[in-house]
Amino acid sequence: MIRGFGGRAAAIMALIGLVLSASLVGLRLYTAQISDANVKVREEALVANGVKEWIRDIEHRVVAQTTWDEALLNLGQTYNPAWAHENISAYLQDLGGFDESYVLSAEDRPLYAMRKGRDEPPATYGRLATIAEPLVANVRAVERRRLALGPPGVTRNPPAPVQASAVGLVDGLPAILSATLVQSDFGRKSLPGKAPVVVTVANLDMEFQRGFSSRFLLRNLHIHPVAEIGPGDVDANTMLHDSAGAPVARMDWTAERPAWDLFVRTLPAMVFALAVFGLVAAGLFLKGRSAARALIASETRAKHMAYHDHLTGLPNRALFSERMAQAMAEMRRSGRAVGVLVLDLDRFKLVNDTYGHGAGDELISDIASRLKSLTRESDIVARLGGDEFAIVYANADPRGLWILANRIVSELSRPIDLPFGRVFPGASIGITLVTDFKIDGDEALRQADLAMYRAKDAGRGRFQFYEPEMDMALKARLAMEGDLREALRAEALTMVYQPQFDGDGQVVGVEALVRWTHPERGPVPPAFFVSIAEECSLIDELGEFTLRRAFSDSLRWPRLTVAVNVSAIQIRAGDFDRLAGRLLRETGADPRRIELEITESILLEDDEVTHETLTRLRSMGFSLALDDFGTGYSSLAYLRRYPIDKIKIDRSFITNLGSEREAEAVVGAIVKLARALNLKVIAEGVETLAQRSGLRRAGCHSIQGFLYSPPIAADAVEALVAAPPAATDPAPPIPAIPTH
Ligand code: C2E
Ligand code: MG
Ligand code: MG
Repeated sequence: MIRGFGGRAAAIMALIGLVLSASLVGLRLYTAQISDANVKVREEALVANGVKEWIRDIEHRVVAQTTWDEALLNLGQTYNPAWAHENISAYLQDLGGFDESYVLSAEDRPLYAMRKGRDEPPATYGRLATIAEPLVANVRAVERRRLALGPPGVTRNPPAPVQASAVGLVDGLPAILSATLVQSDFGRKSLPGKAPVVVTVANLDMEFQRGFSSRFLLRNLHIHPVAEIGPGDVDANTMLHDSAGAPVARMDWTAERPAWDLFVRTLPAMVFALAVFGLVAAGLFLKGRSAARALIASETRAKHMAYHDHLTGLPNRALFSERMAQAMAEMRRSGRAVGVLVLDLDRFKLVNDTYGHGAGDELISDIASRLKSLTRESDIVARLGGDEFAIVYANADPRGLWILANRIVSELSRPIDLPFGRVFPGASIGITLVTDFKIDGDEALRQADLAMYRAKDAGRGRFQFYEPEMDMALKARLAMEGDLREALRAEALTMVYQPQFDGDGQVVGVEALVRWTHPERGPVPPAFFVSIAEECSLIDELGEFTLRRAFSDSLRWPRLTVAVNVSAIQIRAGDFDRLAGRLLRETGADPRRIELEITESILLEDDEVTHETLTRLRSMGFSLALDDFGTGYSSLAYLRRYPIDKIKIDRSFITNLGSEREAEAVVGAIVKLARALNLKVIAEGVETLAQRSGLRRAGCHSIQGFLYSPPIAADAVEALVAAPPAATDPAPPIPAIPTH
């Protein structure tokens, strides 16, 4: 999803970048146009004023020659053509830059004409008479008003010039025409009537255009007579009008466009900046995208790690639950059953403890790949944790599940050669076949788990299908747990003692055995409730109870050894010797007369803590007996390594004594082994005289069993010691109290 977003984001970013850049340039262009239009309007106003100023300038230049007593005398009083040529024509031509100049008499008759520096016949004035006439008329009108006021007399300042100017077409070309009245400088001279008028023409030619352009800094200035103006766009322009206000010509030029110029000048920089911005944005985007990709990758990794087992790469419990929920939903849709298998290795802990965790990891990896190869592609194999695996088997039927479980069990019961050595992992499998729509994944897993524990209880290395009765048993067990807790709290448990006899039939010791009579169920076998206590952490309480009772009862029988069963879990906890020491102090018992019965399983694990605890117990004065000898590994090695004093031959070896020769040979071998290791030996579960004879032949004289006595109440022990029972065969006497 993020990857798709990345592609779209790239396109969107590019588009946004493009639109942004385009609008930025467009905006700059628009503002440039607006501000340049303002500049143009201002420029046009400036030029219009400039033309007026230019005309005033021209007028000033004429005034210098016409407001002069000499001019009045030489042009008005008498007409002096030589003076006119010298002071009007030549002067205005050379210094004033005028193209034509004329002198009109008081009657407006042309007296003198000059054109392009040359004297012309006065009639030449006729070419421009119509254009000049309104101007001359203006001048005469002012003159008339002055004359009406009378002669001005001598003044300190020259009089105001009487002039009129306008633009007009002379020979079809635009020109500035001026008419100026000839006047006295300071009123010292005067004429009786009207004065002459000087008419000048300054062509708006190339020269003018150059001068005007350079004064007002205009580019491409042109002046077109109105008749020549064609349609079409013009840039900046201003109209030139004649004396009547009618347009005569148009001045146009290329307006300054500072904003546009600035825009053009800054465009490369802007493009560069945008390009840099684009590059940076692209860089950032690419970086962001690669960061996003890294994020996706790490997210995928994290997701994978969160849903998979690190060691085997198999789905973990979380993913398994998800997949199982899917399988259940599919089952509800299709109606096809789903099989769930839970598998637990039988000897994983042994491998872990013996070879270390590295070896354990290798074994788990190997098992994982074996399971993958034994299952179908569509099956889900997961590691639920430790040495526990699970399989979801879709479209299941009992036969298919049976075949799969059988294959796994036989495959895992074969030895596996790993770098650190050969191991026999073995596996117990619980299976449930789910067809009930109401069952969810958790429930299916629970059922398979329950069946797996049943397979383990039934002897491991096997598989077991879930049956609803298992739930009943489990419920009963749970109920039993609560009841046992209550019984321990209320000290409702009791101890019985089973006497142990020597070869002469004398009682030499007793084994303390715990009893619990359930208020509703009656007597509960200790093997059953002791294992419950071990599973639900009640074993410490139970152990303390039995030890305290046995220790204090031992004080009643100073000549007997009292054997007490100790759970492997208690020994492994590591602080059992402290408890035993405390109880010794509490009860005042003599540890030399207390025998602690432990089972082979404790020694099998070869645990440092166990070794130390047993050694400490031994040094405290307790003796140690190995219970149920022969049912476990019966290894010579641990018999030598641990401080054991006695072995108790398990009842299973005794049962066939007297009827099977091999049984006697086995017992004989055990006795010889004990002797060789300097260990005492006792047989338990002796029920018949034949068994006793067999034991005697094998060299075992110490006996415990129904042949002599069942477990009896503490109060009955003294009487039994005083009068030992005769061995009666075959049935044991009915016990005084129930001992089951
Ligand atoms: P165990 O320590 O091997 O105890 C011997 C068991 O064999 C006792 O069963 C005893 O009643 C039974 N037995 C004795 N003689 C004969 C015989 O001639 N024939 C037959 N068939 N059975 C005989 P019990 O009392 O049911 O105890 C079973 C197991 O429960 C014990 O086996 C022991 O492992 C455990 N247990 C009993 N009491 C305690 C206890 O106080 N603490 C612990 N931790 N475990 C105990
Ligand atoms: Mg025992
Ligand atoms: Mg036993």
